[in-house]
Formats: sequence, structure tokens, C-alpha cells
Amino acid sequence: MVQKMRVQEIWEARKRIAPLVHKTPLIRSPLLTEQAGRPIYLKLENVHDIGAFKVRGAANKMLSLNDEERKRGVTTYSTGNHGMAVAFIAKKLGIEARVCISNRVPKAKVDLLKAMGAHVEIVGESQDAAGIRCYELQREYGITVIEPFDDRHVIAGQGTIGLELLEDLPDLIDVIVPLSGGGLLSGVGLALKSNSPEIRITGVSMEQSAVMVESLKAGKPLEMEESETLADSLLGGIGLDNKYTFSMVEKYMDDVLLIPESRIAHSLAYMVDKHRLIMEGAAATGIAAVLDNKIHHQEGPIAIIISGQNIDISMVLDLMQKYTAEKE
Ligand SMILES: *Cc1c(COP(=O)(O)O)cnc(C)c1O
Repeated sequence: MVQKMRVQEIWEARKRIAPLVHKTPLIRSPLLTEQAGRPIYLKLENVHDIGAFKVRGAANKMLSLNDEERKRGVTTYSTGNHGMAVAFIAKKLGIEARVCISNRVPKAKVDLLKAMGAHVEIVGESQDAAGIRCYELQREYGITVIEPFDDRHVIAGQGTIGLELLEDLPDLIDVIVPLSGGGLLSGVGLALKSNSPEIRITGVSMEQSAVMVESLKAGKPLEMEESETLADSLLGGIGLDNKYTFSMVEKYMDDVLLIPESRIAHSLAYMVDKHRLIMEGAAATGIAAVLDNKIHHQEGPIAIIISGQNIDISMVLDLMQKYTAEKE
């Protein structure tokens, strides 16, 4: 069933998460401004403690739990930025976090989650098995599953980015938002369009396995095979029984751009070389949109949400080497 959200929920989230999640900087990029011929700003969501914006939604969700729910604990089956955000915020609030993972998850990730204080439970061979275990924990022990995007508190938390953008850049006219399950775009869209309906929102994703984009085309949530991508944080389904983000992305997203792997790679390396800024592939999709001049329907400032920086440094070095070789 489709559910509706109000912008008021984002204002409430802002107040609620303030003690745990700091406002992030919005910087003007002289380099990209020069390239694009219009002002380009970067919203640095990579500077959060865990290196990605997902702490906002996780904090808003967990702070909304009552004492009884907090005592029973929380669980998730994400090993990416959402899993880290859940572990991080749970620790801050003294809530027990249980991350269910498959035995395919690399040891480095497991160690990281453990170091953040999470209980890691290894179940089966696939992400699906891990997900099933999470819902079992919810049914049997009343442990709350913290959804990665399709939850009103999570969406409202991510939406606080939109409020900060309006504060820092009142004449903002275009926003570029990396898109996967759509919690980020839904929240930012609701915040921005409630205040300034003329702001255009462009979603960016990788070319292969952009599940939300394919689902919108089909008019209903789809399931798809996953392919390898540099934008690994954008992988994953949107849920066949999607409650919020499918309809919110449909409503708030004006345009969508699918970025080829080669351009994600180039943009990521370019930002290290010219901007001295490291970001992960998911965030580099937004840079590619600007470098390749894909946003040209109007004039005025563009903000790109630099959604995270969690990429293996060996991968960055690899990309830098290829980039340097191409330049020569
Ligand atoms: C989760 C994530 C996204 C996508 O957010 P959704 O709410 O799933 O659309 C983009 N970038 C990074 C770095 C992420 O971790």
C-alpha cells in the first residue's frame, strides 16, 4: 500500500538527529564551476563519521523507537553504508545491533562491523537468507529491522540534507542525487519541492541494474539481476511491496541519467587528481553528470550530493593509474 509523507516529518527529523548528526558543509567548486559554466556546489555527505549520509536516516529511525523497542535491539542485513550507519548509531545510543550477513561477505567488512560494536550473525549463502533471518528476529524476538530506504523515518532523516541545502543556497535550481532504493531522493525531493517546486531533481545511477529506473519505466517495482559496478552502493532491489520510495521518486524526480562505468571511473579519478577529493563510485555518478554537461535545462546553481567516500584505497590507486595512463 502506498503511504504519504509530510515535510513536517523532515523538520522533526532535523531536531531529533541534531545531537548525533552534524550539519555537513556545502562548498563551491571553482573547478567544476569553470567546467560547467554555471555555479557548482558539492554537498559533502562524505564527511560524516562513517563516510556516508546514511547516519541521518539510521539516527532518525532509532531515536524514534520507544524504550521497550530500544531494549530489544535492532537488526539489518546491509553490510554497506547502511549497515555501518546502523552499527554506529546503535552504539551511540546503547542499543544492541545485530547485522545478519551471508558467508560470502569479505572478512574485512565483517571485522569493520564488529569493530563498530555490532553483533555479526553469519547465516547462509546469500543476502536473501540474511534478510529472511532479520525478519525472523523481528517476528520472534521483537527486534526492529532498520530498513535501508523504504521507511518514513529513514526517508525523513535523509531529507534533512534538503533542508540544509535550502539554508545554505537559497537560489539553488538543480540538484543531482545518486539513486538506488530512493530513500535519499525521496527525502531530499520532499524537502526541496515543498519549499521551492521549481527546483529540478536529477537522479543519477549506473547503467546496469538501475532497479528503480527500470521499475519506474515498467510502472511497478521489479526484481533484477545485479551486475558489477564501481557504484556498488547503488546496487540492490527496491522491494516488490515498496511502500514509499517508488511513488515518491516517481513524483519528485524530474530527470534521470544512467552513467557508464568508464565515466564513473574517469570522474572519480578526476576528482582525486584535480580536486583532491576522494569519493566512492556512487557519488562520482553525479560528478560525471556535470563533467559530461548533461544538466542543461536551466541556468543557476547546481548542487551535487557527494553521498559517500567508502571505497577501497587499492581501487582508487588502480583507477588513478589507468587515468594517468590515458592522459599520457
Ligand atoms: C545508499 C547510498 C546511496 C543511495 O541511496 P538510496 O536511498 O538507496 O537511493 C547513494 N550513495 C551512497 C554512498 C549510498 O550509501
